[in-house]
Amino acid sequence: MADGATTILIVEDDPFQRETVCAYLAGQGFAVEGVADGAGFRAAVAKGMPDAALVDIGLPGEDGFSLARWLRGLSPTVGIVMLTAATDLVDRVVGLESGADDYITKPFEPRELLARLRALMRRSGGGDGRQAAPAGPAEALPPHKVRLGAAVLDRKTGVLRTAEGKDDQLTESELSLLTLFLENPNRALHRDWLLERTSGEDEPEAFDRAIDLRVMRLRRKIERHPARPMALRTVRGVGYLFDPEAG
Ligand code: CA
Repeated sequence: MADGATTILIVEDDPFQRETVCAYLAGQGFAVEGVADGAGFRAAVAKGMPDAALVDIGLPGEDGFSLARWLRGLSPTVGIVMLTAATDLVDRVVGLESGADDYITKPFEPRELLARLRALMRRSGGGDGRQAAPAGPAEALPPHKVRLGAAVLDRKTGVLRTAEGKDDQLTESELSLLTLFLENPNRALHRDWLLERTSGEDEPEAFDRAIDLRVMRLRRKIERHPARPMALRTVRGVGYLFDPEAG
C-alpha cells in the first residue's frame, strides 16, 4: 500500500461489486484492499488497521454486523460504512448500532460512496482519532442555553456548540426535531410521530429515511461518539429517546 494514502478495506462477497469499488477507489488515490469474507477481513485487519472499512452485510458465514462490532471493539476511531442491499429500515439502524458510522444502500453510485468516505475522513481527521473538545463537567449555563449530549444549544439563536467545539447554525428541521426531544425527555418517541411534527422542506429526502438521517446528522453534532450514541438513543422498533443526563 502507498505511503500516506488513506487505507480502505472492503469486504464484499460479490467479486464484480468488490472489484468495481476497489478499482474506483484506487483510481481516486486510496490504498484499497478487497476481501471476500469474514476470515479474509480479520486477516487483513490483523496485518494493519485500515483508516476505513466498507462492510457488506450479507456475507457467507460471519455477517457484516458481526464484523463491524468486532472492528469497532478493536478501534474506536476506524471509519465503518455498511453496504446493504436490504431496504428494511431496521437493518439500517441495527447496522449503525453495530458501531458503524454510516451506511449506503446498494446499488450505489461510486461517486456517492466517495462523498461518504470523504465526509467520514473529515470527521475522523483522517483516522487519527475523534477526540471531542472536553466540555466543563458542571459548567453553569444561562437559561436560554441547554445541554444536549456533549453539545450546547443556544435556543435564542439556534446555534449549536457541537461536541467538537464548533459553532453550527442549525437548520429549521434540525431545530424542530431537537425541540421535540427537549420537550419530551426520557420518552421513546415514535419515528412517525417525529416525522409528523417536524418541518423538513429544507431536506427533501425520501419519506422513510428522513427522520433516521436527521437523527444521524444530529448525533454527529451532539454525541461524543456518534456511532455509540448516549443522548439520542435508538429504541428498536419504535424510534428514538432523548436522555438529558447523557454527556
Ligand atoms: Ca453480499
